[in-house]
Amino acid sequence: MTTPLDKVIVIMGASSGIGEATAKLLAERGAKLMLAARREDRLKMIQAAYPQADILIKQADVTDFAQVEAVVQEAHKAFGKVDVLFNNAGIMPTAPLAAGHRDDWKKMLDINVMGVLNGIAATLPIMEQQQAGHIIATDSVAGHVVYPDSAVYCGTKFAVRAIMEGLRQEQRENQIKSTIVSPGAVQTELYTTIQDKEVGESLRQAQQEWGLTSEDVAQAVVYAIDTPDRVSISNLIIRPTQQQ
Ligand code: NDP
Repeated sequence: MTTPLDKVIVIMGASSGIGEATAKLLAERGAKLMLAARREDRLKMIQAAYPQADILIKQADVTDFAQVEAVVQEAHKAFGKVDVLFNNAGIMPTAPLAAGHRDDWKKMLDINVMGVLNGIAATLPIMEQQQAGHIIATDSVAGHVVYPDSAVYCGTKFAVRAIMEGLRQEQRENQIKSTIVSPGAVQTELYTTIQDKEVGESLRQAQQEWGLTSEDVAQAVVYAIDTPDRVSISNLIIRPTQQQ
């Protein structure tokens, strides 16, 4: 039998994939949840699947600080505290640099990097006041290794790793923990954001053949959340066994 998890957890990017799987595991553990993303219909489906659970949902785009702040404030008002922020939203429209997809570069930087920073900026004042809290971000193996045709995506994930390590150093005396979860290939909708046909086909094939499930990664996120206050897990790298 699993033990209940008495925490208030905000998930940015909760409507599918890793965020959705994490929300479901946490709902089963009795955590109080605020789920945010752009697709409200998908959030409603998660909420409806757990009628007994304390789940709030809110439509939000992580690139808009005011919307992120509203999500965090609403969770704080409803539940009286915010224990965990899970900064999970991300996109991966990868292509070779020579393709010059400047719009995609900007979108990746805005969502994958500014989205994480917006979450941190909206939540830190509450956590500093609480003198307690935990911020988690979904990084990637691509935040540790650069892959061909993925330079910009890797750049965003390297940035997230640096930001989260800086957060850990700056906030340890306030008892605020910082964790990155770095998965390899996971079978999610992320791969539908790839426009480049050749790159998309090869990545999708690998992901479908031996990729992790969202639940594999969600288990790691919940593990990090469920550690005692004295334990700070900086990074969990989770590769599919067959990934290089
Ligand atoms: P999904 O596409 O299933 O999930 C992405 C989530 O991010 C969705 O909930 C989506 O919600 C949300 N999102 C995207 N853009 C925004 C935005 N502007 N504002 C708010 N929410 C947004 O893919 P994954 O579960 O795979 O992705 C989750 C994270 O995992 C990402 O950060 C990704 O980079 C990372 N990752 C994924 C890997 C993989 O192989 N799948 C490997 C390593 C890391 P909505 O569209 O409704 O807004």
